Amino acid sequence: MVWNDSDQTETTRLLQQAEKVISSGRYLRKFEPELEGRYEADTQADRVRRIRRTIVLGLAVFHAYNLAALVTTPDLVFLNLVLRIGVMTPVGLLIAWSVGRVTPGLREAFCGLGMVSATGIPLVLFWLSNAPSYVLMASGVGLTVIFSNTTLPLRFPWACTVSATAAAGMAVAVAARPDLGAGAASVLVLDLATAILFSLLATYRIEVGARRDYLLTLRESLRSDRLAADNTALARLSLTDPLTGLANRRAFTARLSAFWQASTRGKPFAVILLDVDHFKRFNDRYGHGAGDACLREISAILAPLVPGRDDLVARYGGEEFAVLAADCSYAEAVGLAERLRLAVSGRGLPHAGRADGISQVTISVGVAVSAGHTTSAAALVEAADIALYEAKARGRDQTYPMPAYFFESGGEAPAETPPPTPLCA
Ligand code: GH3
Ligand code: MG
Ligand code: MG
Repeated sequence: MVWNDSDQTETTRLLQQAEKVISSGRYLRKFEPELEGRYEADTQADRVRRIRRTIVLGLAVFHAYNLAALVTTPDLVFLNLVLRIGVMTPVGLLIAWSVGRVTPGLREAFCGLGMVSATGIPLVLFWLSNAPSYVLMASGVGLTVIFSNTTLPLRFPWACTVSATAAAGMAVAVAARPDLGAGAASVLVLDLATAILFSLLATYRIEVGARRDYLLTLRESLRSDRLAADNTALARLSLTDPLTGLANRRAFTARLSAFWQASTRGKPFAVILLDVDHFKRFNDRYGHGAGDACLREISAILAPLVPGRDDLVARYGGEEFAVLAADCSYAEAVGLAERLRLAVSGRGLPHAGRADGISQVTISVGVAVSAGHTTSAAALVEAADIALYEAKARGRDQTYPMPAYFFESGGEAPAETPPPTPLCA
């Protein structure tokens, strides 16, 4: 996973928002917009799927009451069919179709309004019927409320709205039926009030539980994301030189070992060591701060000149840098080393403190290329180091590539060998 700072701040913000809700225990309050947006994004698909399935189930049961109406309100069979099949069914299907296509607020509003209409149908039939068993139709109101509050279930504010309109509708319908008698009317109102009370309690618990479970899970996942990001940042820090931002010695050693493995499978590579000439005098002359700035400047010169995806420029230590160049022949390595050296001297960074007649910052470079006769990665670095000191000994501001016979002779000192092959500029 690649992390950037904006991922980090978003994670931290969401985590703080989630912690705040968890510690307050107020799960039903609308979360802060960012957290609410995340909640909606994470739960939307599931919510829409459930609403659609529940509407289909609800409509199927709702239609079974066409048959019940033959017993309860036989005088209104036609009106019953019109309301259930002609009105409620298309409305229900339209809601099922639209819930995945509108904003979350509208989605919940459509469901709520749909349930207000659904509770209205038994109320209207109850009100208008003159059949002897019309009072049985009232049970449909409570059952519809239970369906809307526990099976769908509506969001808590909408569940309250549907319950309140059902209660108001029942009060009006009962008042409009003086034939019912006060005792029966009270029982119907009590039944509906009980259905509303129990089902609203269930809505509340379901919604609080869902939101709490979501936040607890989100908190764990955000915490583990943050931990992973911290670990990545730490790993990056542990491999980076703080002064120059280049890879550090640890990163160099790890990459060297990978290169060495590859070289045993026939892929040669080069180790190039670069050391700033007379840098102590630079510090003495310009101060340590300027010395640091100079090292940073040299890093910025070197890094873009080693663009290979697997190649590495590292700060090897102090005023020494190291380059690992993958899949590199002797001539290519020498060419690269020279480009690096000339880029530094060509930048013309002033160095008035040295006493060798040169007045700018230069580097000396040692090169060693792995080949069949190289015995180990450490031996290769050692050879590059010896080559570097040979470059120093020969007057600095130059590249010394360790010749192949150095390895063949088992590491004879270069001073006893002829000069290296000509350098490419
Ligand atoms: P040579 O040409 O032989 O390499 O001479 P030199 O003066 O560069 O080499 P020497 O090893 O005598 O001194 C290295 C200097 O590099 C001494 C030290 O203060 C300086 N140096 C090492 N690390 C840093 C650093 O991080 N910042 C600064 N400003 N100076 C550093
Ligand atoms: Mg030096
Ligand atoms: Mg040095």
